[in-house]
Amino acid sequence: MAGSGLEAAVGPSLRLHPVLESVEDHAGTVAEEHQRLHEAVAGVLERLAELADRARRHLGQGEAEVFEAHATLLRDPRITGAAHARIEAGEPAAAAWAASIERAAGAFADLADPYQRERGQDVHSVGDRVVRLLLGADEPGSTAHGILVVDELDPALAISLDASRVQGVLTRRGGTTGHGVLIATARGVPVLTGVGDRADVPDGTVVAFDARSGDLVVDPEPALRQAFERMVDDRRRERERALRHALSPAVTTDGVRVRVKANVSSLAVARLGAALGAEGSGLVRTEAVFAQWRQAPSVAQQVEVYAAMARVYHPHPVTIRTWDVGGDKPLPFHPVAPEQNPFLGVRGLRAFAEDPSLLLDQLQAICTVAVDHPVAVLFPMVTTIQDVRWAQEQLGRAAARAGLEAPPPGLQVGIMVEVPAAALGIARLAQGLDLVSIGSNDLVQYTLATERGNPRLAAWSDALDPAVLSLVRTVADGAPDGVRVGLCGAMAGDPDLAGLLVGLGVHELSASAAAVPLVKQRLRTGSAAQFVELADQALACADGAAVRALVQASLPTPTVRLSGPLAAGTAR
Ligand code: PEP
Ligand code: MG
Repeated sequence: MAGSGLEAAVGPSLRLHPVLESVEDHAGTVAEEHQRLHEAVAGVLERLAELADRARRHLGQGEAEVFEAHATLLRDPRITGAAHARIEAGEPAAAAWAASIERAAGAFADLADPYQRERGQDVHSVGDRVVRLLLGADEPGSTAHGILVVDELDPALAISLDASRVQGVLTRRGGTTGHGVLIATARGVPVLTGVGDRADVPDGTVVAFDARSGDLVVDPEPALRQAFERMVDDRRRERERALRHALSPAVTTDGVRVRVKANVSSLAVARLGAALGAEGSGLVRTEAVFAQWRQAPSVAQQVEVYAAMARVYHPHPVTIRTWDVGGDKPLPFHPVAPEQNPFLGVRGLRAFAEDPSLLLDQLQAICTVAVDHPVAVLFPMVTTIQDVRWAQEQLGRAAARAGLEAPPPGLQVGIMVEVPAAALGIARLAQGLDLVSIGSNDLVQYTLATERGNPRLAAWSDALDPAVLSLVRTVADGAPDGVRVGLCGAMAGDPDLAGLLVGLGVHELSASAAAVPLVKQRLRTGSAAQFVELADQALACADGAAVRALVQASLPTPTVRLSGPLAAGTAR
């Protein structure tokens, strides 16, 4: 489970049920059912155009594209064709459509990578709308208020809910990177994702949650509720201030400028990040951008996408990570053989050692885009100096394929630091590079031997463990002069940790798009000298809990912990 990294909420809960799970319809003749389905799909396409327009006016083109992508899904002949075939076989339109949607979404549901899995939510979302229209049901949540409890947060609900009456959203399934979550957080609605059945309570029961800490409490006792309500107000003011200054640089009180960039998994997210003040992208997860593609994108198709992202951030750079496949990230067009320990297996760069053709295509596209735009390339899952040399060799080959004598001079080259061996050997590995980016999600998993995303290991998987922090400091201290040190794991999106990371020596942060304004705002509240002192103290702490307490004590608005001593009810 993880939060959106932003805000907290308290209020009465209201469960919104999806209709796809309970489809009952009366069948007409086969011809009538075909016609009904045609009309429902056309009706939803019309509504999606309205929602795209609304998103464009209120949030920007990036969010509008989410609805345009939904319209493309609705026109996918594999989905509509399967539904019409079922009608032909005698099924009513709604049941036929629901079955076809479940099948299409199922292809995503089994994927381990959250970025890829959440594309399945988009399929559910459009599918649900068609069924509602066929059954004459209301648009979900249009009059809802309080804290909504939903299975998944549909982008259409996220854009159409009344933000003045909905205090927050809890999702039973799904992670933080779905488009619905991004849109709701961009609108200032707090979201806590993946709470399972913990908020399955009678409507009207008060629930409180904090997306930063991931805490959720049902029916908090009065003293806790009041303290929490005050914190929610503080956070709201902090967010308003952060948004007012979103487009200004983040400069500490003693004049150190820290660049805050956005992690990008689609063009829509790139646009959202730019609108919220990101100074470029510190990580484009290309395996997520192309997760829905059944066949590998051509060089030209990749050039189009990367150049569009580069234009969004001009004159700031976009940092394109090469395919990070394997582990929890299957890529349909580059299958990796099953392994006993996939996270310790043929992951990232290693997946191309035998056949680098797909990597070469990607590097060719990156070189081409870098001729005209500021671009950096990052290689994932680097462990040895041979990895770095091999990656650079491939880059040289790709430049030649692009008709260039060498990689373009403006193309910055870097590696992800996700493996402790890379952190400890940084002085050797980063020699001659332009940047390194600490992937704290994987660095935590490999340092603490805790499989990422495994909820049973949460107690052992603490990003604030001094062992992890000490590796971050090792990278910052050991990187050769002139090599930029960034951090692009989930830690970078937690505003509470921004000062600590800068104090450890990180030069720039790449956060989830919605978190960018708050991270910047936090960095403006202290001096680099204070942050270094905080980091030194953190490194001397006994464990992650002590680091967390230290960080909290340093914050302008400390967090009221729902699972702390005051907490009652069902804290996690
Ligand atoms: C990381 O490991 O921290 C990272 C940013 O990469 P990913 O989460 O995509 O593995
Ligand atoms: Mg990683």
